[in-house]
Amino acid sequence: MENQPYCPRCPHPTADQDIREVIASVLAALPQEQRTPEEEYRLRLEGCESCPGQNQGICRYCGCYVEVRAAKNFMICPNPKGSLWPENAAAPEDEDDDW
Ligand code: SF4
Repeated sequence: MENQPYCPRCPHPTADQDIREVIASVLAALPQEQRTPEEEYRLRLEGCESCPGQNQGICRYCGCYVEVRAAKNFMICPNPKGSLWPENAAAPEDEDDDW
């Protein structure tokens, strides 16, 4: 992970409080009909947490804050080796590949 670029906009728990507040406000403004159900949201974030494509809360494949992307029920996981989210959890065939 140390070779991946660091994004200063990161919403990861180590991020600046200002950024976390922005993320919280974006999530609060998301219409209920577009929100991922809570249990599915938790499972999506578990997938992101274990994903080699996630760096400090940013998805390297789309540049999204994973907390925001996962909260939108119409989004998909853009992992080119297969989604790590539960609804289409086709895990990568070879998880030892370099990314
Ligand atoms: S590829 Fe999918 S699981 Fe990985 S960080 Fe992006 S959205 Fe999360």
